Amino acid sequence: MKRASIISIGNELLNGQTIDTNVSWLSGKLLSIGIPSVSSYTIGDDIDSIIRSFNLASSDADIVIATGGLGPTDDDLTRQAFAKFLGTELQLQNELLEKIQNFFTSRNRQMSSKNKIQAYIPAGAKALANNLGTAPGIMAEAKGKLFIALPGVPSEMKQMFEESVLAELRRLAGRQAVVVRKLKCFGTGESNIAELLGDIMQRGRNPLINCTVRHGVITLHIIATAEDKDQGQQIVEKDEKSLRNKLGELVYGTEEQTLAEVVGERLAKKKQTIAVAESCTGGGLAKLLTDIPGASRYFTCGWITYSNSAKTSEIGVPADLIEKHGAVSEQVAQAMARGARKKAGTTFAIGVTGIAGPSGANEQKPIGLVYICVDSDSGCVTERFIFHHDRDSIRLRAAQTALNMLRLKCGID
Ligand code: AMP
Ligand code: MG
Repeated sequence: MKRASIISIGNELLNGQTIDTNVSWLSGKLLSIGIPSVSSYTIGDDIDSIIRSFNLASSDADIVIATGGLGPTDDDLTRQAFAKFLGTELQLQNELLEKIQNFFTSRNRQMSSKNKIQAYIPAGAKALANNLGTAPGIMAEAKGKLFIALPGVPSEMKQMFEESVLAELRRLAGRQAVVVRKLKCFGTGESNIAELLGDIMQRGRNPLINCTVRHGVITLHIIATAEDKDQGQQIVEKDEKSLRNKLGELVYGTEEQTLAEVVGERLAKKKQTIAVAESCTGGGLAKLLTDIPGASRYFTCGWITYSNSAKTSEIGVPADLIEKHGAVSEQVAQAMARGARKKAGTTFAIGVTGIAGPSGANEQKPIGLVYICVDSDSGCVTERFIFHHDRDSIRLRAAQTALNMLRLKCGID
């Protein structure tokens, strides 16, 4: 199995000025042709660091791709370091010089003497054409491995990769494949998922199971490396089945699916409808639902009843109920959902009320306390949650959790 390592070169990447987008783009491209990236290094414009990272990267991988440091200025040192690493000299390639000169002539500009350095390539290496700029890339084989240096400018790097590198890498990769399946989960924490999965997440296993988390959504990445795509697919499918068995309804979807998409699909399929009555989420739940194109098939309307009086006048929450239990209570969440469903005439309605903070809490009702109720013909389901972190996170988590409760309710009905 051929593996790659990526080196990002440039001081601007180390001082917070430039975000390294090259490494994510390249690793995605490599994965799509069956080459996993096993490491990436970010280093400054310094000859010794570049040579060191070439050595490190080539001890990890068979293919080393560096970006950056091929410009004409004194801080661009990748070609000098590349030659030193290969143990050769830089050689002037007249064809390249002519191309660079033409680049300037065609733009009615004078070529600076500084650009001449870009026509130098380590002896024995191959120059890669740059159709968008002046910096040619460099490709060389050494110690049985392939080394490639591409420009740092993302548009130039991408074009050069597609036009002059991809075919060679495809040839090297042959039929080898990396097949990735993502399982999206919601409703519990990362550690609980890990516990449910047992030793399936151990390192060195094929497929490898990785776990990432964002806004409460846990993504399990099932990554199979295989001799070919079919074999990879089989390995992934076997593990997907076993993960689904272990996790049950915690798995809500696959790949890039969102909770709102999955819920929307189910509602549309069953010709069911939804209305929402929101307090602490301030319309966030309606936003998630209506972010999905075609949401009008199932989403009818929403109320943002932020004040007590609006809860009473708009969706009929009894004032004495609010007086007795407080606006953030199980009873008010229920009355909001019921009131919204009655007014909208929908299959389901959701009521959300809570304390998003940073103020408004007391001893009985801490920041992050949220009640969510889903009402339907089969009755009300109300749950109490304590969400953490800041106001934005609490509000988003509340809206996502409401969608998840709806998902479970649609699934059962
Ligand atoms: P260079 O090839 O080193 O002259 O890089 C030229 C420009 O490309 C830099 O000034 C950055 O703005 C950009 N750049 C370089 N490396 C990266 C990277 N890894 N990700 C995104 N942009 C980059
Ligand atoms: Mg640079």
